[in-house]
Amino acid sequence: MGIKDCKIDNWKLQYNGFDSEQESLRESLCMLGNGYLGTRGAATEALPSEIHYPGTYIRGLYNRLPTHIAGRTIYNEDMVNCPNWLYLTFRVDDGEWFCPGVSPLLSYKITLNIREGMLVREMRFKSKNGRRTKVVESRLVHMSKPHLAALSYTITPENYDGNIVVHSLLDGAVLNMNVKRYRQLNFHHWKTHSLGRFSDNGVYLGLRTTQSKIELAQAARLRVFINGREKNVSMEEIQHGKNVIGLQAGIRVRQGQSLSLEKTVTVYSSRDREAEGKPIEAAVKEVSSASRFERLRESHCRAWERLWDRYDMTIKGDAFSQNVLRFHMFHLLQTASPLCGDRDAGLPARGLHGEAYRGHIFWDELFVLPAFNMNSPSVTKNILLYRFRRLNKAREYARNNGYQGAMFPWQSGSTGEEETQEVHLNPLSGKWGPDYSRLQRHVSLAIAYNVLKYWQTTGDRDFLENQGAEILLAIAKFFASLMEYDRNDDRFHSRRVMGPDEFHEKFPNSDIPGINDNAYTNVMVVWLLNEVYEVISVLSAKVRSRLLKKLKITPEEMGCWDEIIRKTKVSVRDGIIEQFSGYFRLRELNWEMYRKKYKDIHRLDRILKAEGRSPDAYKVSKQADVLMLFYVLSLPEIKRVMEKLGYGFDRSMVKKNYEYYLQRTSHGSTLSKVVHCYVANLLGREKEGWRWFQEVLNSDLRDVQGGTTPEGVHLGVMGGSVDVVLRSFAGIEITDNHLRIKPNLPRAWDKLGFKFVYRKQLIALEVTRRELSLKLLRGARPLSVEINSEMKIVPIGRTLKVTLKS
Ligand code: BGC
Repeated sequence: MGIKDCKIDNWKLQYNGFDSEQESLRESLCMLGNGYLGTRGAATEALPSEIHYPGTYIRGLYNRLPTHIAGRTIYNEDMVNCPNWLYLTFRVDDGEWFCPGVSPLLSYKITLNIREGMLVREMRFKSKNGRRTKVVESRLVHMSKPHLAALSYTITPENYDGNIVVHSLLDGAVLNMNVKRYRQLNFHHWKTHSLGRFSDNGVYLGLRTTQSKIELAQAARLRVFINGREKNVSMEEIQHGKNVIGLQAGIRVRQGQSLSLEKTVTVYSSRDREAEGKPIEAAVKEVSSASRFERLRESHCRAWERLWDRYDMTIKGDAFSQNVLRFHMFHLLQTASPLCGDRDAGLPARGLHGEAYRGHIFWDELFVLPAFNMNSPSVTKNILLYRFRRLNKAREYARNNGYQGAMFPWQSGSTGEEETQEVHLNPLSGKWGPDYSRLQRHVSLAIAYNVLKYWQTTGDRDFLENQGAEILLAIAKFFASLMEYDRNDDRFHSRRVMGPDEFHEKFPNSDIPGINDNAYTNVMVVWLLNEVYEVISVLSAKVRSRLLKKLKITPEEMGCWDEIIRKTKVSVRDGIIEQFSGYFRLRELNWEMYRKKYKDIHRLDRILKAEGRSPDAYKVSKQADVLMLFYVLSLPEIKRVMEKLGYGFDRSMVKKNYEYYLQRTSHGSTLSKVVHCYVANLLGREKEGWRWFQEVLNSDLRDVQGGTTPEGVHLGVMGGSVDVVLRSFAGIEITDNHLRIKPNLPRAWDKLGFKFVYRKQLIALEVTRRELSLKLLRGARPLSVEINSEMKIVPIGRTLKVTLKS
């Protein structure tokens, strides 16, 4: 799926021909968004069906619904599918309404223009009575006007004169139906409370979510032009039931004339400060004064130009990497843009592109934020503030589970409560089973890691003193309370947790959820406690004492942290770090046999469970777990942690662990490929690293998991691809108040260039295999940087060139 007729080149993703099987994938990949709202690249002419799914989502807009299933009532909070603003179609005289997939097409082409943030659809079709019509649609979701979206739709009769009847709707009869597996769950999130007309050519729709009581308003205006001249046509108001409103008009058009419709739409919710509590008024006001499509397009493209000036990475020598990296950056910016940001919303793992995981927020931002840290730290800060505002919920969650400090939920939505479902459906067996994945306490480590990386990259003291340090201390306090001391081995242990590898939910044959001593968790806890000491030491005395008092962190408690730093359990055998306690005793799986039998074994957990077995019993991992350590921490950092614990660590362990776990991992999560790519490069295995990089680049574009991308892209893997370029290929490392660059360009690349911000200094970097050049474009003082282990100084406005040894 997804490979046919797809071309990515020269800032453009193009599809030729209509393919009903691929349509949902294309809709995800052609989503347009601006960080506030996102709309799937669905056909304007289509209502939701098995082929088409026109979803629109607003970041942070959720609703919770009960469902009675598997003998109990469960509650799920969903990112709500908002009314479909796209819907626009036509018929000629009393012919059929035009819809691709139903109407006989002569040609069909979709172009996603990545540079300009435009989606263009060009089609020709021939009706039963031989009439040929050409249609061109251009669509945008405005990059600097968060509430505004627009489309221009031009119909040209090629061989006839006729009465073209156009039909445009705001469709509020939408349901959350994108993910088949969830269709047994309740999906009615809206109640329409008002709808009407605000002018001859304008309609609005006002709705409220059933539980979160969020008001949403959409207003649409339809203008008609013949051969570029505006035409005043009389429009009839249409209402279908209580939730759908629109306009219909018949327009006589002669052969060769172009009939253009400009549909401009505004969207406001009661969560938006700028709506001042009156979303309908705000939507109607903005749409009434909106400019013509062309003017909107120009300002939209200018906004994208500004973004690309900062975010573009240029690669010479490899057009595929170049285009896909731009495509990934494009989707990251469409989900969290610095231009439409500053809202109380996190980063949904599957973007604003679909409904997988119900728009929930996991740990995936760990893979995404480096891309933002280096360019618009304000985006990272906003995402961290989403967590800060939910710190009290995390404290409550910790308390309710018998811990101290703040424990963030594995899946987060609007309130910061745990949103992980209690039961999940195995599509292979059709059975519902318990879901223990919430035991992934490491999500709080990821949040702490992100705070620390943001602090190290930006030096934003204001954030550290007012929010960051409190998040860090609260998380440190949580983990210190989670680690249990065992007198028998004089070690601290994590118990009843899960690691990033979600296949192991409990010990074989045990009824108690969770495993013990997940090595990734344990090492990261020790690392975090060390880092928190450092942070405490840089806080002003006033802030330090305020925070320690507020969090009730006593000298005795800090004494206990010291003990954890020295005595946490990590089990190592022959240089291999045991993924969790007892992993080495599990059974080996016959991977060859399973590969032969099932071909796609990404989701071995579902396969084994459908066979009546348990993945708990086997050495099988869904994704990188131990290897995560090498992805997030530098080798000197791991060495420091391990040596403090009294274990040895040397470089050879990276290779041993990589080889050991690689053979036992199914990569059921695309995140796994990012980590393997990074670690293979760290080991200097260039070819292997390159193969992984191709997998990373193809993950969404080719829907390598065979059906997950139609339910939303994987922002983690998209961000991860940028992170690999920054940290592996450009070799940028920021630790201990230090910027280091150690480039390692892939063989296929002749040159890599991009801009980045380090501590308010704007730097342009270019690397070829022979030379590295750095220019300090903006900064208050000269930049000091370590390049291939040598200290260099770059004066403001000057370029430093360093010859690289091959
Ligand atoms: C992965 C998690 C990830 C989640 C959301 C799961 O399949 O195992 O690590 O956070 O997807 O992307």
